[in-house]
Amino acid sequence: MPTSSQHALRVLAVPAFQNNYLWLVHDGDHAAVVDPGDAAPILAALAAHHLTLTAILLTHHHADHIGGVPALLATADVPVFGPRGDGIAAVTVPLGEGDCIDVPGLDLALRVFDVPGHTLGHIAYLRRTPAQPWLFCGDTLFAGGCGRLFEGTPAQLHDSLTRLAALPDDTLVYCAHEYTLANLAFAHAVEPGNTAIGARIEAENAKRARGLPTIPSTIGLEKATNPFLRATQSAIASELVDAGKLAPGAAPPAVFAALREWKNTF
Ligand code: ZN
Ligand code: FE
Repeated sequence: MPTSSQHALRVLAVPAFQNNYLWLVHDGDHAAVVDPGDAAPILAALAAHHLTLTAILLTHHHADHIGGVPALLATADVPVFGPRGDGIAAVTVPLGEGDCIDVPGLDLALRVFDVPGHTLGHIAYLRRTPAQPWLFCGDTLFAGGCGRLFEGTPAQLHDSLTRLAALPDDTLVYCAHEYTLANLAFAHAVEPGNTAIGARIEAENAKRARGLPTIPSTIGLEKATNPFLRATQSAIASELVDAGKLAPGAAPPAVFAALREWKNTF
């Protein structure tokens, strides 16, 4: 294995498909890729930046997150870190809640969280350094929203998001899709009186107008503007009750379930 270089780590957004971001964490020499749904844009980015791939990190089993793994392994014999419980055959280092890994070739230590809901085995990776934390959360927490419930229950996803919301406010959130503007339109409908949402819509629109990603977000910004992290807010419950989508007096997990249901048809 190559030894760690002294350069600071950087995270590169590699767009793929309609709205995916594949994340390339690198130090100028070596790189690890998170959720390579497609190999071609990763191979192009590695070549353009003169990087050697040293690891593949996966969050869950969906094709837009793992589809590029075989083609990458054909070019580089690297470990494939991934969830223990999501049925991904290519995983060579199965991971679950509380596991800690040192990514080969990089000065990058990560801690694993189980975040079931979008899929049952979905995991997230947190960079464990005293510096600003980084979270790679796949399709669990999105900027302004959250993943669809393909396999888990609303209570599971609510619990997963609540645990991510407990991370430090300055944690950078690297999610896997550019869904931010559509998510914030929903957030605004759910919480019309929240001025932080209006301000964020303006800021994110400006980024998109310049062709920039809205990601990474931060946990602090998500706590202020993402309805799926705000199910305890009485204004949100009132809005759902007024819209006939929730019975009065419901607890936060039920508020969350009603929000997720509403977003599916928004
Ligand atoms: Zn997915
Ligand atoms: Fe996805």
